[in-house]
Amino acid sequence: MPKVHIVGNWKMNQNLESVRSFAKAFEGKGPFNCETWIAPQAIHISGLIENAGPIKVGSQTVSEHEKGAFTGELSPTSLKDIGATFTLVGHSERRQYYGEGNEVLNEKVKSALSHGLKVIYCVGETLEQRESGQMETILKEQVSDGLRGITSKDSLLIAYEPVWAIGTGVVATTQQAQQAHEYIRGLLSELGLESKDISILYGGSVKPNNIDGLLECPDIDGALVGGASLDPESFLALCQSGDKH
Ligand code: PEP
Repeated sequence: MPKVHIVGNWKMNQNLESVRSFAKAFEGKGPFNCETWIAPQAIHISGLIENAGPIKVGSQTVSEHEKGAFTGELSPTSLKDIGATFTLVGHSERRQYYGEGNEVLNEKVKSALSHGLKVIYCVGETLEQRESGQMETILKEQVSDGLRGITSKDSLLIAYEPVWAIGTGVVATTQQAQQAHEYIRGLLSELGLESKDISILYGGSVKPNNIDGLLECPDIDGALVGGASLDPESFLALCQSGDKH
């Protein structure tokens, strides 16, 4: 059975003061039955690790290189060194604004896994792709090219995030999300991965008032949450929902 994960993606939000007050609000909360993870801005990873109690901390992206002359990049070994648990790879904002394609994302997945980080590999179609009937083709490319050569399910998670649902307030229906998750699980099996053990998270306008229906779907094993993870009360409510499933 895949474990339920509730993962916050803070993107380029939160300052030192709000990171500290978030951690303070979480003092004494948990332990949770589900995994509770947050990816803050890189500059706050260490601080959050020291104060986050039951929350595990990771990064929003990672370099495909281990070290060297790559100005501005985040080394997987350094992330591991400071106690990061995981990294996101292939978030749609990285694909869209930083030109990260499936090939380089595949290198990032391999590099992060080989340096002991868990990886949440993000996939999802745009509205245009969905409306023109290309959803399955896009997901297939993202999964098979991005995960090429990955032979173990260990430390691998997937986030299905339809681009049209990210930060828009438009959440996929449970039927749309379940259908995509089931399809992705099938793709993972085709790659030879034991897909029944891989957590596939849904992302896209998840809030405390819509998470329960999503988590009831048989192939949805958690949520990757942007906006609603910034406020400690709201993130706590999401974690409590995660605990029930
Ligand atoms: C995200 O950034 O991964 C995300 C799902 O954002 P939001 O929850 O704000 O839609």
